Amino acid sequence: MTLDLETQKRIVEVLKEKGATRACEACGNPLMELLPDFFTSTPFTPGTPPAVQIGKLYPTFGVACPRCGNVRFHLMGPLGLLPLASGGQP
Ligand SMILES: [Zn+2]
Repeated sequence: MTLDLETQKRIVEVLKEKGATRACEACGNPLMELLPDFFTSTPFTPGTPPAVQIGKLYPTFGVACPRCGNVRFHLMGPLGLLPLASGGQP
């Protein structure tokens, strides 16, 4: 799902409120960019084929470094942004 402009603005506001706006930890570039889509992380249980493990998903968004390609993902729940992932207002 693509992030609309309003959602992107809210995410940037929350990252600033939380102080989560540091430069790229890989190359030091201060200009990280919000990726335009939601992502999900799935818990992994060793010994179980990955295709069988679908069920529990953690909504995330990504921030990427345009210089080196480093990406960091933020869980939306701890940032109070889960309503945005379901299409609602925060
Ligand atoms: Zn970088």
